[in-house]
Amino acid sequence: MIKKFFIIFLVCVSVYAKNYSLQEFKWPSGITLLDFLESSNIPLSLYYNLEAEEKELVTEIIADSDCDMLIDETGKVDQILVPISDELQIHIYKDKENKFKLTFTPIIYEEKTHSLGINIEKSPYLDISKATGSSALSNAFMVVFGKVVNFRKLQKGDALVLHYTQKYRLGKPYGNPRIISGMMEENKKSYYMYYYDSKYYDEKGKMAEKFLFRLPVPGARVSSKFSPKRYHPVLKRYRAHLGTDYAAPKGTPIKAVADGKVVFVGKKGGYGNTIEISHINGYKSLYAHTSKFAKGMKVGRNVSQGQIIAYIGTTGLSTGPHLHLGLYKNNRAIDFEKVVYVEKDGEFVKEKAKFEKFKRVENEKLQNAMGGYQNPPKIVTFDNFIKI
Ligand SMILES: [Zn+2]
Repeated sequence: MIKKFFIIFLVCVSVYAKNYSLQEFKWPSGITLLDFLESSNIPLSLYYNLEAEEKELVTEIIADSDCDMLIDETGKVDQILVPISDELQIHIYKDKENKFKLTFTPIIYEEKTHSLGINIEKSPYLDISKATGSSALSNAFMVVFGKVVNFRKLQKGDALVLHYTQKYRLGKPYGNPRIISGMMEENKKSYYMYYYDSKYYDEKGKMAEKFLFRLPVPGARVSSKFSPKRYHPVLKRYRAHLGTDYAAPKGTPIKAVADGKVVFVGKKGGYGNTIEISHINGYKSLYAHTSKFAKGMKVGRNVSQGQIIAYIGTTGLSTGPHLHLGLYKNNRAIDFEKVVYVEKDGEFVKEKAKFEKFKRVENEKLQNAMGGYQNPPKIVTFDNFIKI
C-alpha cells in the first residue's frame, strides 16, 4: 500500500524561491496518518503527541482527497497539507530548528460562481461532464433534478441551465459544487429548482427535500455539537468536531438514522468500534465508540431506518459512554442536527415575497447563461502531467 505514495503527480517545479517543488497526491484509501508518517520518515511523535480530540479528528482524512507536499531542493519533505473537511486541513511543516510540527489550519479557498447552458446531446450526466469536466457537477444535478424530471422523456436539444458555485483551493476545484438555481427542459416543458434558505424549492415554492433522518438514540442528550472549525483562544489552536455526540448509558441501542447499506464495521482509529451506513443521495452515516455491534452486522447488509445496529460504548478515544454520529454528504462532513429536522414533505417556502424576488434574480442569470457566453472554463485533470 505504501507504494501508492510514489504515484504522485508532478504539478509544477521551481515555484518557490529555493527551488522547492509542489507535488500533489491523492490520499490512499485505508491509510492512517500514522502509516503515512512512517512511510514518509516523519517522527511518529507528531501523532502520539496529539490530544484525544485531535486524534479523533485525524481519523477524518478522506480517501482520495487531494493533498499537497512541498519538497525541498534535496528531495526531502518540507511541508504537507491534508484536508480533513471543507474548512480545515492538517498542516505538517518544519519549524526553525528543522523539527516537524503538526497543526490544524483553515483551508484558504475562494468560491466562484459559474453558469452553464447546454442542449442535451446524450444525457444530462454525460453532457454536463463533457462541458465542464466535472462529474461532481453531474452528480449534484442528479441529486437536485433526479426526482423532478423524467429522464426517459428527454428529447435531444432540450435545454439545461445551471447557476452554481464551486470552491477552489490552490487554483483547483475542490469539494462539491452547489447548484443555486437551474432549469431543465423535458420535451420542451421547463422545470426550475432554486436553492433558497439552505433547501431546494421548485418554481411554486414547494420544498423538494424528501429525505428523512431519524435520531439514532431517541431522547439522548446532545453532549457535543457539530463544529466545522473553531479557534481555541487559550490553546491558540484550530479545532473541529465533525459530528454530533449523544450521551447515553453503556449498552443503549443505537438505531440507523435512515435506510441504507452497511459499508464498514470494525475498529477505526480514535473512533473505536465503528459502523458506517451509506444512504441514497450520497449520504453516509458513521456511528463511533460503540461497545458492540448488533447481531449480523456486516459489510453489504441492508438496514432499515430505526433498526438497531450497535450499542453505546466508550471504545477508542472517548472519555465516557456516548455515540459520536457523523453524517457525510458526498464524503464531506455535514451537521446532522440541521437535516434531522426536515420532517414534512412538500412544505412550502415561508417568506413567499422574498422567495419570489430571489427567483426573479436567478431567472435572469439562467436566461443569460442560456446564451452560452458565460460557460465556465473546462476543468483540467492531472492525467496529462508526468507520473514519477
Ligand atoms: Zn464526537
